[in-house]
Amino acid sequence: MTIKVAIIGAGPAGFYTADALTERDADVAIDLIEYLPTPYGLIRAGVAPDHQTTKKVQKTYAKTAQKPQLRYYGNVKIGRDVRLDELREIYDAVVLAIGAPRDNPARMPGADKQGVYGSAAFVGWYNGHPDFRDLNPDLNTQAVAVIGVGNVAIDVARVLVKTPEEMATSDLQDYAAEAVGKSPITDVYLFGRRGPVDAKFTNVELREMGKLEQCVPIVDAAQLPDAVTGDYEDRDLRVRAKNLETLKEFAGRDPKEKPKRVHFAFHASPVEILGGDRVEGLRLERTRVEDGRAVGTGEYFEIPCGLVVPAIGYRSEPIEGAPFDEKRGIVPNEAGRVADGLYAVGWIKRGPTGTIATNKPDGKLAAEQILADCKPGKPGRAAFEALLREKGVRPVSFSEWLRIEAAEEAGATPPAPRKKFTRVENMLDALDGDKATQEAG
Ligand SMILES: Cc1cc2nc3c(=O)[nH]c(=O)nc-3n(C[C@H](O)[C@H](O)[C@H](O)COP(=O)(O)OP(=O)(O)OC[C@H]3O[C@@H](n4cnc5c(N)ncnc54)[C@H](O)[C@@H]3O)c2cc1C
Repeated sequence: MTIKVAIIGAGPAGFYTADALTERDADVAIDLIEYLPTPYGLIRAGVAPDHQTTKKVQKTYAKTAQKPQLRYYGNVKIGRDVRLDELREIYDAVVLAIGAPRDNPARMPGADKQGVYGSAAFVGWYNGHPDFRDLNPDLNTQAVAVIGVGNVAIDVARVLVKTPEEMATSDLQDYAAEAVGKSPITDVYLFGRRGPVDAKFTNVELREMGKLEQCVPIVDAAQLPDAVTGDYEDRDLRVRAKNLETLKEFAGRDPKEKPKRVHFAFHASPVEILGGDRVEGLRLERTRVEDGRAVGTGEYFEIPCGLVVPAIGYRSEPIEGAPFDEKRGIVPNEAGRVADGLYAVGWIKRGPTGTIATNKPDGKLAAEQILADCKPGKPGRAAFEALLREKGVRPVSFSEWLRIEAAEEAGATPPAPRKKFTRVENMLDALDGDKATQEAG
């Protein structure tokens, strides 16, 4: 008998779970249920628009989606259209692969001012995620403060300072390209509370900042130690040492070399966002690191800026019917097992860490657990489709997604790879035939 599995979320973790289930010699029917009509999670809406090579992994996921054991149901949000407990009645196993789509809140005075956007919202906006399509951040400012020193912070800075020519092969949404193009931004600051050795950049991304056409990276040499000291694993030590070497190269660059600058500023802890209704500046306290923790020195400084982007991590949204750890922002689990027949993979399981590939072992483990734990017997797909009809939900199939994708590619101005649809209603109109709104945008 067939084991009926529902995977909620068509990001990397969902696809790796589906793939691992199909690779075992087991009789499984997998329904991959996704909130948006479009699949691929943060590969589409998080990974930077100018890093198209990273997005190529989508092709592997598309192959998985077209395996005979799998059916894709886009445009179905669990918790809104169908309840989790309803799914658990229908399927032998349910896998939560819903990621961590929300910003960790920036807890400081002034964080509610206009002009403060968490990186999930800001990145979602420039990547055309329908939830953030109408964010309309005001980029009419010379200086931007990004809080955080990881790859997401670097992505945000890079997108704000690259030239239109450098972005030509990207899928930066046209409204975002226009806003960035018109913006007078000359300086982007990346602030880290701890030292340069604690920064979480990968070296390729950091080095890229030294090769931009119109922008020079700035680092204060006085903030850089001679060498990396501390108790790190070999691989970790190598990355930190390489980053330190790159930052030392940056410290020799001339701020006047190019019209724009990205400043890497360490030992600086933001304490208040300044201004009236709108952001006008950021106040920070200088820190020193004691036992791995940033400790305030009591010395403060301020920078004027009109936009603040806290890039300080992500959290999941609670889903009704599943337990939730408010502190960690994840679904509590034991090696992925949440409850009888309920599993978690990816960022909802581990929190927002690692690369795309880090989600792969989660999928493999969940597949093994499902095949070991679950007995077939529940009705699966037919009952799910009946439920969708009863609730008046219009699911988007994978072949329909391929039509949306083809329209996005056809609508692009070469060499851009695609012009995304950024509104769900436009995606559905493109499928169901309202000519007025069939164009991507
Ligand atoms: C800005 C940014 C840039 C990144 N860049 C890189 C990079 O360059 N290289 C790299 O290796 N990694 C990168 N990552 C990390 C990588 O994107 C993640 O590791 C990966 O996407 C996590 O996979 P996931 O499946 O857990 O979550 P997600 O990718 O978020 O997928 C979750 C999916 O679940 C869906 N969903 C959510 N709620 C529901 C619901 N209630 N019902 C149905 N569906 C739902 C979502 O719409 C989404 O499609 C980046 C991350 C971010 C945030």
